Amino acid sequence: MVFSQDYALLENVGQPVSPRIIPRAEHHISRSQISPNALKVLYRLHENGYDAYLVGGGVRDLMLGREPKDFDIATNATPEEVRGLFKNCRLIGRRFRLAHIRYGREIIEVATFRAPHDEAEHVDQAHSEDGRILRDNVYGTLEQDVWRRDFTINALYYNIADFSVVDYTGGVEDLNQGMLHLIGDPIERYKEDPVRMLRAVRFAAKLGFNIDKDSENAIHDLGGLLKNVSPARVFDEMLKLFHGGCAAQTFELLRHYDLFQYLFPETDAHLDSELGEIMLPLISRALNNTDQRIQDGKPVNPAFLIAILLWHLVVEKQEAIMSNGVPPFPAMQQAGQQVMSAQIRSLSIPKRFSLVAKEIWIMQLRLPNRRGKRPLVLLAQQRFRAAYDFLCLRGQSGEDELQEVCEWWTRFQEQNPEDRNSMLRSDKRRKRRPRKRKSRSPDA
Ligand code: ATP
Ligand code: MG
Repeated sequence: MVFSQDYALLENVGQPVSPRIIPRAEHHISRSQISPNALKVLYRLHENGYDAYLVGGGVRDLMLGREPKDFDIATNATPEEVRGLFKNCRLIGRRFRLAHIRYGREIIEVATFRAPHDEAEHVDQAHSEDGRILRDNVYGTLEQDVWRRDFTINALYYNIADFSVVDYTGGVEDLNQGMLHLIGDPIERYKEDPVRMLRAVRFAAKLGFNIDKDSENAIHDLGGLLKNVSPARVFDEMLKLFHGGCAAQTFELLRHYDLFQYLFPETDAHLDSELGEIMLPLISRALNNTDQRIQDGKPVNPAFLIAILLWHLVVEKQEAIMSNGVPPFPAMQQAGQQVMSAQIRSLSIPKRFSLVAKEIWIMQLRLPNRRGKRPLVLLAQQRFRAAYDFLCLRGQSGEDELQEVCEWWTRFQEQNPEDRNSMLRSDKRRKRRPRKRKSRSPDA
């Protein structure tokens, strides 16, 4: 059955249409799969006479038999009314006013149904000249809320009143078909919010879905609008793109749709040059490693991937600075600073991450030098582990001479402290060579 024809999906957005209601017996979402805190919020809203639905990725992922990342709730209660029901509630956001209900580390996000501004009595909406939505706090009904969501598969509502799923846009059919379908006119919807292009890629990679032709073609034409999005929001989106467990596939798709240039413009330009052949193996190894770590439940620091993605630019710049007679260490510091300053114009990188990335870069100069007691000092440094992983990845990705260094550090870490000292002593005997009396090492 082709449901999309029953729905006013593309032509009649916002017109009255009847939803398809999938009763409890005909879908696989069970309350045992929903976070107890999200259920608590749903029930409390319902008991107080409000409509309450689980919506977005939570419903989508449960329908697909996947574990949701988070649980979002939609309701007809206003943010203030939600706050009145939960003492652990905070209202956030200017562009979209939302209620955050906190239970320990888990935050349940509750959004009030929104209406398009021409159908609402009270309008608090603003657009930029290029059609971007700057503020959108116009409250409405579920029927209206559906049309402002991005993809049909993200516009399914699980009703806590009777455990049915409400589908206005053909989302269930698209889930079955593995299709990403932007709701409404793709050009208009990307203009309203260019980040939807990045979301299309993210969901396509994560779910292994295809992007429908119209939604896909518009990406090629409108990618440039991402330049108008605030660098802080692009950073948030980058984290979701690369820390969602399928970074390698996401990177492929970002490159395929020419969108990577809006995240890391200089890196992207270099990837298309001769340097690309050297850069790609390192990037691709790092992305696969990140995916593996996430699969294994290990922590990932965004600084590591950022350091990888910018590494060859830093090396190139360092070499240019050194050619003016600047020694390697200050040259690396200057290069790191310059590359970061250029980068944050597109995608802002909070200081806590950019500092770590710069430390990882500097450590790349220090790790090969294992003279004297230096290794003990380096090993004790906070960034040692990240810098060592980074160096080993470089060794595996074409810089063969680093493999020996990586292996040495691997052995050194495996030793107990006493044996580490003897490893240093034996290395000293082997490597001893005459030193000029007053010479200074570059990192002294
Ligand atoms: P996940 O949480 O797994 O990354 P998600 O679809 O839940 O995916 P969220 O960012 O949590 O994504 O957003 C929740 C829901 O809000 C989405 O499913 C979608 O319905 C709506 N939404 C989020 N961002 C946008 C956007 N930029 N434009 C339109 N609707 C959006
Ligand atoms: Mg979500």
